[in-house]
Amino acid sequence: MSEPLLSGKVYLDYNATSKVRPEAIDAITRALVAGGNPSSVHAAGRAARATVETARAEVAALVGAEPAAVTFLSGGTEADALAIDSAIADGVCRLIIGATEHEAVRETALASGLAVEVWPVDGNGLADLEWLAAALSDGPRAIGCLMLANNETGVIQPVTEAAALVRAAGGWLHVDAVQAAGKISIDINGLGADTLALSAHKIGGPQGVGALIAGPRARLTRQLHGGGQERGLRSGTENVAGIAGFGAAARAAIRDLPALTAQAVWRDALARRLSMAGAIVLGEGAPRLPQTLCVSTADFASDLQVMTLDLAGVMISAGAACTSGKVKPSRTIEAMGHADLALTSVRISGGWATSENDWIRCGDIWLEAHARLAARRRSAA
Ligand code: PLP
Repeated sequence: MSEPLLSGKVYLDYNATSKVRPEAIDAITRALVAGGNPSSVHAAGRAARATVETARAEVAALVGAEPAAVTFLSGGTEADALAIDSAIADGVCRLIIGATEHEAVRETALASGLAVEVWPVDGNGLADLEWLAAALSDGPRAIGCLMLANNETGVIQPVTEAAALVRAAGGWLHVDAVQAAGKISIDINGLGADTLALSAHKIGGPQGVGALIAGPRARLTRQLHGGGQERGLRSGTENVAGIAGFGAAARAAIRDLPALTAQAVWRDALARRLSMAGAIVLGEGAPRLPQTLCVSTADFASDLQVMTLDLAGVMISAGAACTSGKVKPSRTIEAMGHADLALTSVRISGGWATSENDWIRCGDIWLEAHARLAARRRSAA
């Protein structure tokens, strides 16, 4: 095997994708070596089916659901799309989406052809429940889409309260829990969500596999026609190895939840160091994921921060998205009313393999880079 790219480096970009857990690599390898099509009735097929069903129970356990509520798909994007398309097929004709939702939700909603109403957030990134109550007080049946935790800021949304409002209005609440899973404890019934999206690669499983979890009221609609796999909802031979890796990652994520929660202490220590150098923590006044830090620093552009840290072996990401060489301001931060901070924000996110030293090293490198930049500016002035 070749030397892993990340070896010797500090990887703090788990919200982009997690390092794959050894348990997942082991489960994937075993499934690939075993082979077998879960639809075949012979021994190899039955073993592959058992692998898929074990993983279904493991993924269900991550969110307090019954295994039968889990539909395996290609990732979080497909899970969001299946939820929104199913709600529309179920008669919903109004789409209400949180202002800081991921593109997977936003673009699916916009592509539906239905009118999309954007549900505002406050300065901390929290969805405005009064706005929702007023919006639901009249009009046709709606689907509300509210992520459990934001990918950039880690802000945790008041999903339970939103679900109560949407239910009272006879609507459907879809929750993108892609970033929250494995980082905070989740119970789909307690949340009151009708559908919940998950992605394996955010919890230490492989890329290209995810799941939609359906609550008791949700009626999912078939997306792909064919052999009728996944209870007729998604035809195509199951990604057995990917699903096995997803299940193993889910089991490990449940086990590691207390350790991940404890990372908030290391994250907050870094936040204090950066704040002393002028950084502002976004979403600081809201409940947040324990391992996500989004900071903005005037005069220290996001792309410069990312590149400088990368050269020193520390990987983080820009709050702003970069497409075809042009940096776009972060929509999430703009929606929070901080357009002025959108091009100077970065996201630092830990995960299952992150040590305290990783957070400290990130702070050391960042502070050195920031001080060097300030000295250069002073001597140029
Ligand atoms: N939803 C959120 C909040 C995400 O952060 C992501 C990925 O970044 C997705 C959905 C899409 O998931 P996937 O990459 O598995 O399609």
